[in-house]
Amino acid sequence: MSKDSTGIVLQEPSLNLWDRPHVYSNRYESWDNGHLQLSEETTITKEDPEDEWEFPRHRLRIFNIVGEGAFGQVWRAQAIDIDGKKGEQTVAVKTLKENASEKEKSDLVQELIVMKNLGTHPNVVRLIGCCTEKEPTLVIMEFVSLGKLQQFLRDSRAERHYGNTHAGSQFLTSRDLTHFAFQVARGMDFLSSKGIIHRDLAARNVLITEERMCKVADFGFARDVAGTHVYERKSDGRLPIRWMAPESLYDDIFSVKSDIWSFGVLLWEIVTLGSTPYPGLSAGDVMRKVREGHRLEKPEHCRRELYNIMYYCWEAESSSRPDFKEVVSMLERLLCTETDYIELERFPDHSYYNVQHLDGEKL
Ligand code: ADP
Ligand code: MG
Repeated sequence: MSKDSTGIVLQEPSLNLWDRPHVYSNRYESWDNGHLQLSEETTITKEDPEDEWEFPRHRLRIFNIVGEGAFGQVWRAQAIDIDGKKGEQTVAVKTLKENASEKEKSDLVQELIVMKNLGTHPNVVRLIGCCTEKEPTLVIMEFVSLGKLQQFLRDSRAERHYGNTHAGSQFLTSRDLTHFAFQVARGMDFLSSKGIIHRDLAARNVLITEERMCKVADFGFARDVAGTHVYERKSDGRLPIRWMAPESLYDDIFSVKSDIWSFGVLLWEIVTLGSTPYPGLSAGDVMRKVREGHRLEKPEHCRRELYNIMYYCWEAESSSRPDFKEVVSMLERLLCTETDYIELERFPDHSYYNVQHLDGEKL
């Protein structure tokens, strides 16, 4: 390592630390092609004083891909001297797939704008910085090590069969699951208090830390609706049909109350350890049935008190649904008792399954 005149620590390219093999597929594999890293000759540009978030990209080392959504790719990376702290720090870096369209690019810019204006909350993934002075745009976030809640819940099923209770085991209790829901509701209450609607709330967009803290993530579709409280979608892509409220499906209307609907579905995902909602139904069936008043059924191993909360989130009339504050306090009340609202020993693995791909749908 060497220090340049500005005191910024530079990595020698020959240092082993940076030569570690790339795990998984890595489209930015060729570290030296200058795609994400500035060449050695590049002079250090001063950070734009106008944007406190801007971070020099040569102080980032991108490692392996940790997740991929419809448009974005998220990488594990190491940043030097970031976030007011000296030294190396593991971070998550979100960027777009190489073939991203203009629309997707503007969605990432929008996501960044939303995150910059958010403030911090323990149950919302935190923005640390960004690199926007040239392409590709990089969004730097706190690294949430256990990844998405959806997968975490699915993996916990095996643990229940072959499980042990060693440290770090995913053996989950009813209380753990209720606590996950509570934390997501708290994060969402914070977002809605800031006038943000998420529009893609689902277990695939909640991340979990080693300390089992849940953090709402993926603001790719989030919009600041502080003025109007309602957002009308102008264009579409792949839609999270199974998480969408009827007014979003049929009238393109999104509000905190459509986020509440999605939260109800997320609660169902938690109770069923990451199952795909409406098992066995096609997207078309789901849309039709939801409009006719059909709702996700109560899983047998879920107590009525907990099911009632999700059911309340699925009121046909959006104004009759609770807000996140009310959901937080309902879940808090459940957490204050000793009752197991989710009887995991009765969880019927065989009757829920996970659909991986459905045409045109976001799952
Ligand atoms: P998309 O908009 O493409 O859906 P997401 O923001 O949901 O992108 O990220 C895609 C995946 O990347 C997530 O499902 C998760 O597995 C992983 N991921 C996203 N953000 C982080 C993070 N901060 N820390 C760790 N993994 C993350
Ligand atoms: Mg996502």
